[in-house]
Formats: sequence, C-alpha cells, structure tokens
Amino acid sequence: MSFDYDLFVIGGGSGGVRAARVAAGDTGAKVALAEEDRYGGTCVIRGCVPKKLMVFASEFPEMAAEARAYGWDMPTGDFSWPDFRSKLHAELDRLEGIYRRLLANSGVETFDARAKVVDAHTVELSTGERKTAKHILLAMGGRPVKLDVPGAEHAITSNEIFLLDELPKSILIVGGGYIASEFAGVMNGLGVKTTQFYRGEQILRGFDNEARDLVADEMRNNGIDLQVNTNVTLMEKTADGSIKVTDTNGRERSFDQVMFATGRTANTDNMGLEEAGVKLGRKGEVEVDQFSQTAVPSIYAVGDVTDRVNLTPVAIREGMAFVETVFKGKPTPVDHDLIPTAIFTQPEMGTVGMGEEEAAAKGQIEVYSTSFRPMRSLFAGSDAKVLMKLIVDANTRVVLGCHIVAPGAGEMIQLAGIAVKMGATKEDFDRTVAVHPTMSEEIVTMKAPTRTA
Ligand code: NDP
Repeated sequence: MSFDYDLFVIGGGSGGVRAARVAAGDTGAKVALAEEDRYGGTCVIRGCVPKKLMVFASEFPEMAAEARAYGWDMPTGDFSWPDFRSKLHAELDRLEGIYRRLLANSGVETFDARAKVVDAHTVELSTGERKTAKHILLAMGGRPVKLDVPGAEHAITSNEIFLLDELPKSILIVGGGYIASEFAGVMNGLGVKTTQFYRGEQILRGFDNEARDLVADEMRNNGIDLQVNTNVTLMEKTADGSIKVTDTNGRERSFDQVMFATGRTANTDNMGLEEAGVKLGRKGEVEVDQFSQTAVPSIYAVGDVTDRVNLTPVAIREGMAFVETVFKGKPTPVDHDLIPTAIFTQPEMGTVGMGEEEAAAKGQIEVYSTSFRPMRSLFAGSDAKVLMKLIVDANTRVVLGCHIVAPGAGEMIQLAGIAVKMGATKEDFDRTVAVHPTMSEEIVTMKAPTRTA
C-alpha cells in the first residue's frame, strides 16, 4: 500500500517539530506536519520562553536595590509593560520563524491547519483535505484548565498573561504548581500587588518539603500574599471592573485580574482518536508504551499529550526516541528516570531525584542539608536564605536526590544532574574540590549528615 507520507505529525510544538525534522533530515523520510496555531507550541509561544523573559524583567528592581546597597547611585525607575511586551512578541515572532525555517530546511511539508485522525493511516485537515501516512505522530500538547466555579469566565490563564494590554494593579493567582508559583514571583517583581491561593498545606506538592518551605517563606518575604488551604468558590465582576472573589474561608476580596494556574489537560478532544482505536487515559491523555506507541500500532504520541513528564526537553527526547525506533530501526525506550528540573520561582528551585520524604519512605537515608544567607545578598543587607541539600542512600552511598533553592539554581542543577544521573556517591561529591567563593560549593563540603531517616 502506498501512502502520501511516511510520517504525518499533528502539532508543531517542541516534540512534534523535533521528530518531524529529524525523521525528514536524518533518514530522508517524507514528512508532513500540521499546526493549527503558532509554530513552537506552548514552550516557545506561551510557556517557558516568554515566562523566562518575564522572570528576567521582574528581577531588575531587586538588582537595582542591590546595586544601591553596593554603592551605586541607581534609581529603580519605572517599568513599561507595553515596551517590554512589544519586544517580547517580536522575539516570539523571530523564534516562530526559526521553527518554520527548520522544518522547511529539513524538507518537512507544513499545513497551517487543524488535523484530526480518521483511521490508522489517515488524517483529515480543517481544509477538508485527507492525507495518508505510514505513521502518524500525535504531538498536540495540552492546555490550561480553569476551575469549575461560578464566574470562572472572568479569570485568565497562562495563555493570556503574555497578551495583557496593561499590567493589573493587583492579581490573584490560583494554584500551587510550577506555573502559579512562577507567575506569583513574576507579577510581584513587576510591581503588581500579588496574592496566591493554594488549596493544600504547602505549594509545590511533590517536591522536597524543606525546599518547598524555603521557597514559600522567601516568596512571602518578597511581598507575595500567599494563602494556603484556600481556594476560590465564586467570582463576580464589580461595577468598577475589578473581580470580587469569595474564598473557601468565606472571605471576599477584589482583584484587577485573576489567573488560574490549576493544571493542564491533554489536547485530545474531537481528534477522532478513540474512534480510530487509540486508547485515552482517565484524564484524556493518550496512553502509550515505553516506545511512545499507542494502542494503534501505526500511531505514536509524544510530549504533553501523553501526560508523562510534561517538560519540553522530555518531549524532545520522546520525539528523538520515536525517530530512532520507527525510522532508524533501533527500538529506543524513553528514559524518564532522574530528570533534573528547575522552577523559576524567586528564589529558584533546582531539583533532581527524590525528595527527603519520598526517599525515606523507600529505605534508609542520610540527609545533608545547609541553609544560609549567601554573600552577595547578605552584603546588601538581605536576610534571604538559600538551601543546598543532598539525599544519600545510607547503604549504597549513592546520591538519590539533590535540591537547591538559590538564585541560579536552574543553572546549578543541570550540572549536579549529570553526577546524580551517573550514580555518583556522596564520596564522589566529597572528592570534588570546592569552587570558592560560591553558593554551590556547599554541595561538596557538607561533612556530617544533618539527620538520618
Ligand atoms: P501543576 O500540576 O504543576 O499544578 C497545578 C496546581 O493546581 C497544583 O497546585 C494543584 O493542586 C492545583 N489544582 C488542581 N486542581 C485544583 C482545583 N480544583 N482547585 C484548586 N487547585 C487545584 O500544573 P501547572 O499548570 O502549574 O503546570 C503544568 C505542568 O507544566 C507542570 O507540571 C510542569 O510539568 C510544566 N511546567 C514546567 C515548568 C518548568 O519546568 N519550570 C514551568 C511551567 C510548567 P494540588 O497540588 O493540590 O494538586
């Protein structure tokens, strides 16, 4: 049977674009890709990239304050959201152009259209055209979900935060995950009066408790009104245009904006997937095996649409492994173990491996932990603390987890992640000479365990 293409990719985000261009560029496969929105997907257009640029923008008042403490005559000055936003969007346009060019230069045919699955080898575009392919790759990603409360239509999500006409004077951010906690820091740094509601005991559930506690403490010290054990029950628009929020404790407060960062869901609605035999999980995610193959042998799926580990570098890995498996004859399972990650809160958290609580539940451990005021901000009169922490298997001596809360923790954990991934022991860390004076030198100078468990 002959097909129009060897591969048809649905979705032009990190995972889909990488798989398409490597399959076409490295193996000469005939590849097409359909994207209904902008090329680059969540990460480039409405996620990691604009978020990180906003984090940078939000850090300057603190830097100006530090500079004054170091003897500089440095006013903080005013922030112009319109100036920043137009530069931000020009940068996103540039990046989208690069993504389009990468695909074109690899010989991938692109369709600016929505595509849905008709059967194991056929997709239908929103233009009405049908295309056949030997393999179909689902890479549609995910989207934010809003809370199901009356008045939810008044809230924005992370999709809209980059498009605001003006910065609000006050904002309520709902949620306690990556996105909520990062944007609380961003908005607060940009001078917006920021409140965060989280329904549980402590934000950043699933990470090491000591690290979560320090991030939350420092966020509060930076001026964020973080309310835990609190959720929204009702939202109403008031005559002056603000949004009146009633919370689970019965309190009412008004905000200029409310942003929900209460999780994301896979883009699998109305895609013809179940009709074609693709199995979906409880939350609508595409179920795949370790090779990213769905219940239909010719259809694979990578990235957030599979809801495994929803991070861009992981989607890229999954896309590359798919190409190895299907187009290079080298079955390659995706390794989801010991993935380093950073949360761009202020202060940042960088983490790899198990937190103390998770590791202690699995076996005997030693905990090496130190929290201190680092030289740079201490000199400027700040009491802000950082945390360096290692979780060590008491029997094998292998470092099971490394957790850093500090400015630049994202950069640090990338490197510590190599050692942890290699299976380094505590003694390997100890053998490494300290780089002085740095914050991260503590990672190799902690001699006695803080506690055992
Ligand atoms: P997360 O799953 O991290 O967080 C969702 C938050 O919403 C949690 O605090 C959750 O609470 C809360 N929540 C869920 N349902 C409700 C509800 N009904 N009422 C109140 N609160 C609720 O999702 P995000 O949207 O923050 O991020 C999605 C994913 O994107 C992340 O998991 C991550 O993989 C990725 N990401 C990575 C970034 C990075 O690498 N720096 C940055 C941004 C996103 P609870 O904890 O109680 O369940």
